[in-house]
Formats: sequence, C-alpha cells, structure tokens
Amino acid sequence: MLHILDHPLGDHVVTHLRDLTTKPATFRTLAYQISLLLAIEATRDVATEELTVETPLEPHCGRVLAESIVLVPILRAGISMVQPFSDLLPALSVGYIGLERDEQTAIARSYYCKLPPLNSRRVLILDPMLATGGSALQAIQVVMAQGAAATDLSLVSIVSAPEGVKAVEAVDPGIKIFTAALDRELNARKYILPGLGDFGDRLYGT
Ligand code: URA
Repeated sequence: MLHILDHPLGDHVVTHLRDLTTKPATFRTLAYQISLLLAIEATRDVATEELTVETPLEPHCGRVLAESIVLVPILRAGISMVQPFSDLLPALSVGYIGLERDEQTAIARSYYCKLPPLNSRRVLILDPMLATGGSALQAIQVVMAQGAAATDLSLVSIVSAPEGVKAVEAVDPGIKIFTAALDRELNARKYILPGLGDFGDRLYGT
C-alpha cells in the first residue's frame, strides 16, 4: 500500500533536494528533515501503552511507545535516514544491508548483511530512492527470509518511481511504502525523472 507524504514542509524540502545547486552539506540537512517527516508518517500506527506520570500539578495517565522497531537502512544512502528515525524512536535495533548498484545493468549486488532478530517486529527498510525496486526487493527478500512478516514491513523512500512501487506491490500488497514524492518514470539508465540524481553522490559529494 502506497502512502505519499502530503505536507507543505515535505514539498519544500523535496524541491530543494532536487535542486542541482544544493550543496552536499545542505543536502544532508534536507535529507535529515524529510526523513524526520517520513518517520512520523511511517509510525502513525505504532503501539502505545498507558503510563502514569506526575506533572508538577497532578498525576496524569498518558501513553508511551510500547514497540521496539527495527530499522534496516540499505547502504550506503540509507544511512542518512537512520539518525532522524532514531531521534524519534527511543527503542530500536538497526540492521544493515549493503547493496551496490551496477552502473551498466542497474542490478543490485549484496556485499554486507547484519540483522537483529526480526520475528514479530515492525521492520522499516530505509532506501532513499525507489527506482527499479531492485535493491528494495532484495532487502525485502532478505528480511522476510529472516522472519519479518509482510504486514509488519514498510519500505521508506524519499523519492519513488512508479516502476519501483509496482515491483514492491507485486511481492506482497501488504507491504507498506512511504514516500515523500512519486515521480514520473525512469530514464534509460534507470534514474528517476525528474528525481534528484544519485542520492549517495549528492549526500557525500562523490
Ligand atoms: N538511485 C539514485 O540515487 N537515484 C536515482 O535516480 C535512482 C537510483
């Protein structure tokens, strides 16, 4: 199921991310900001439990988070989304999947994988650009093979192409996709149009 962020702050940040003249330092700040907004969207239905606290005036029964979430950033660009998510979520584990896109074939190759236990836990895969869906599909396969259920699985992307969304939905329509922008299409080199170019390169100035 596709959820597109609908917020003027999100539009503002994505437009500056797309801007060719945005330098890496600003790009990193914008990536943090948009990930924070996406973290809010992607955790809307997170479980909470009652907690009674004393305010300076009287006791108050409030609610606090009752779920420990697993973040799985896809290296390298997904790393930029970890800090904003962990700033909002006190209890979490972080697993890493390293996938590298072959520039000729646009097919992702796995070079690293380290995951915490995933059974019965909500898993958020963090991948800023959902283009062909190749990396996302590989990551989904890996986390499902390690026990994550499709209904507990979300893919969080900053910019998505319709091709990538379709590919993820074809694996299991129960997987939630959160994105800040659904773009037009992929070009012949499998870059998203209008997109923002190579997210990792723009982030790290490579
Ligand atoms: N990865 C990127 O960084 N950008 C794209 O447009 C597609 C994949």
